[in-house]
Amino acid sequence: MSSRKKISIFGVTGSIGTSAADVILASQGAFNVQVVTAGQNVRKLAEMAIRLKAKKAVIAQEELLQPLKDSLAAYGIAADAGKQALIEAAAEPADLLLAAIVGFEGLRPIMAALEKGINVAIANKEPLVAAGPLLMAAARKSGARLLPVDSEHNAVFQVWEERNRSKIAKVILTASGGPFLNWTQGQMEKATPEQATSHPNWSMGPKISVDSATMMNKALEVIEAACLFDLPPEKIEVLIHPQSVIHSLVVYTDGSVLAQMGESDMRTPIAHALGWPERLPSGGKQLEMTKMSALTFQAPNFAKFPALGYAYKSLREGPAACVALNAANEVAVKAFLDRRIGFLTILNCVGNALEQVKGNLSQDHPKTVEESEKLDNTVRVLTESFISRLTQDQQNITVRTQ
Ligand code: NAD
Ligand code: MG
Repeated sequence: MSSRKKISIFGVTGSIGTSAADVILASQGAFNVQVVTAGQNVRKLAEMAIRLKAKKAVIAQEELLQPLKDSLAAYGIAADAGKQALIEAAAEPADLLLAAIVGFEGLRPIMAALEKGINVAIANKEPLVAAGPLLMAAARKSGARLLPVDSEHNAVFQVWEERNRSKIAKVILTASGGPFLNWTQGQMEKATPEQATSHPNWSMGPKISVDSATMMNKALEVIEAACLFDLPPEKIEVLIHPQSVIHSLVVYTDGSVLAQMGESDMRTPIAHALGWPERLPSGGKQLEMTKMSALTFQAPNFAKFPALGYAYKSLREGPAACVALNAANEVAVKAFLDRRIGFLTILNCVGNALEQVKGNLSQDHPKTVEESEKLDNTVRVLTESFISRLTQDQQNITVRTQ
């Protein structure tokens, strides 16, 4: 019994969280589940806590404590609620924490776990983008490991030879290209949230689905790779690979190119990160090579998908720009999903925030979590007012042309 890994799952009700629960249930007793958390879905959180036999469930929204307690009372599972409870629960003893919350909001719990020396299997990419250097420093200090769950970074991790770090020429992140790969600018301008969230290869949460459609997901992943593997931007390349069979590649100076392949099923990278350094069954299908279509690769179109250029620019400008890119994108994606702005305006919001960081905001890069949060908040406020101005202008034009 003592060889079971103690695991906590932050964001257990989401797309990654439920896939991780499948892996844990398929592992036949490899894990003891400690804490499970969610944002506001009490019913699903309680159901997952009971299925996984967790010790404790925490809901981010404080006013939902009583319904959570009521749902769990008969099962002897402790309940807690609120942002602070989430941070404290992340520091409770565990061998591994799966970070599967969406957005910058996941930063504090990840930091709390790393500071306690708890390994973190990380899917929640936004905190890495906005505060990567701080998270990496905390991990180095405590000796905790950050294990990549994002499929591309997990692929790189699987074929990365640390002893030959100096012989790594570059890393190539593959991208499916998302649902709008072959759409025209005019079509994208009118894209609806329903169209933007229908990904051709992967089934994911709404925010990352929109990010895939704008290619902001790949942009965030370029910054994520720079941070996780300590690489300069010129050593990170992106290739469009619509079949999503090769999940990423590492190119060595001797001409060898090592790739990791598999089905488009997040249970594989999740099983790898949760089982590391062992391998676990994932419950997913195996790749059938004879049934595979031809694998194709093409360079991304930076003019059509400006998000990629923003990522390289932000990496060169430093952490403040990375915070701005992420915060503006989170606000803009939400505004698009709420039908307040059009699809292409998401990129205008990010471009505007990067200009503002360069021009108007302090050039000082955040050196603490508090400073990152302060800058994140400033950029959210300025992006909201950018959106209000845009929608106001739009209304004025409509009134004038009537
Ligand atoms: P999702 O929307 O399906 O789930 C998000 C989870 O976070 C839910 O459990 C939700 O309750 C919780 N949550 C939301 N807001 C919260 C808040 N304010 N406080 C606390 N908890 C909150 O998202 P997802 O698709 O599972 O993605 C999770 C993370 O993993 C994202 O950062 C995403 O970029 C990354 N990721 C996802 C996939 C994928 O296939 N879904 C692949 C790679 C990386
Ligand atoms: Mg990915």
